[in-house]
Amino acid sequence: MGTQPEKIKQIIPHSRPTLGQEESDQVLEAIRSVQLSQGERVHMFEQTFADSMGMKHASATSSGTAALHVTLLALGVGVADEVIIPSYVCTALLNAVRYVGATPVLADIDQDTGNLDPLDVNKRLTRRTKAVIIPHMFGLAADMDRLTKLDVPIIEDCAQTVGGTYGGKRVGTFGHAAIFSFYATKVMTTGEGGMVVSYSRKLIERVKDLREYDERREDDVRYNYKMTDIHAALGLAQLTKLETFIRRRRSIAKQYDQAFKDLGFKLPPNKIGHIYYRYVIGLDSAASFLIQRLQAKGIMCAKPVFKPLHRYLKQKGYPKTENVWHRSISLPIYPSLQSVDVNLVISTIKKVCKTIKKQGGACLNFTS
Ligand SMILES: *Cc1c(COP(=O)(O)O)cnc(C)c1O
Repeated sequence: MGTQPEKIKQIIPHSRPTLGQEESDQVLEAIRSVQLSQGERVHMFEQTFADSMGMKHASATSSGTAALHVTLLALGVGVADEVIIPSYVCTALLNAVRYVGATPVLADIDQDTGNLDPLDVNKRLTRRTKAVIIPHMFGLAADMDRLTKLDVPIIEDCAQTVGGTYGGKRVGTFGHAAIFSFYATKVMTTGEGGMVVSYSRKLIERVKDLREYDERREDDVRYNYKMTDIHAALGLAQLTKLETFIRRRRSIAKQYDQAFKDLGFKLPPNKIGHIYYRYVIGLDSAASFLIQRLQAKGIMCAKPVFKPLHRYLKQKGYPKTENVWHRSISLPIYPSLQSVDVNLVISTIKKVCKTIKKQGGACLNFTS
């Protein structure tokens, strides 16, 4: 094609952690204390995290995936069982279900929010359904009123929605257990890391039993899914900033809402409790087209879900997931995004859309 390579003045990453002096200080302190692996800081992180989420018990893990794996094991999910997960989510959920040998059953989503559709979940319940994993996608809680009414144990996946609320209650407090991820680009980070929380002391004790292998009398399979004290030091520093992080995310979202309201996009649902882990806009088609054009200008946006799970499993019949996947773009949004960056994202998007419309090349307007 005849497009000239464009000169990019500045690249704005799609996501980036927000770190400061406190993180450096606390990590250094952990290193100087010579307690590197799981110790007092992990213990403190677990307790502080459980308290701030309004939960009783917590167990830190080496990742969100590990947290999902041991939670499934602790709930007794195994080879003969089915676990319902949405198709519109990352492969971490699919992997965890496969680790325990259970059968993943995919459900479709609500087109407006990207979250699990309770009606579709209900249709897929069988006698073998042992659990449903409910991710709260992009910072917005799933429809917990209806999902909690289904007769099936719930694991909430709060990897994208730490600190978010539903009906005034923190996400992670609705199910039998909830997991979190502290991967580098999540709302708060430990580099890599995860957490399981529950009201049930027994369940968390079982999780702690499974995450470490040393000094066992029996020869049962155990894992090494522990968090280190260095990671926990990072997590403790990040946790004190969580509310500030969320406030900044909401403020950027408000600016985007205002700036994009006349461009024809579908904007993210404006709901109480949304923490805007992702700012996802919907177009009529041509999402990939706009992504390319923005990336060429240094604005790193992306599809918020890389590839739906039914496509990996070569299954058909997930029309809403397909639709949302084709039409969604995630824009840069994180606390370390400066005001000048936000303005640059806005002005670039406006400019690119104007050009696209003038050329009549693609339709940006969203119609449901
Ligand atoms: C990131 C993520 C995970 C996996 O967490 P890791 O720490 O990367 O293993 C699981 N579920 C959801 C919804 C996520 O976004």
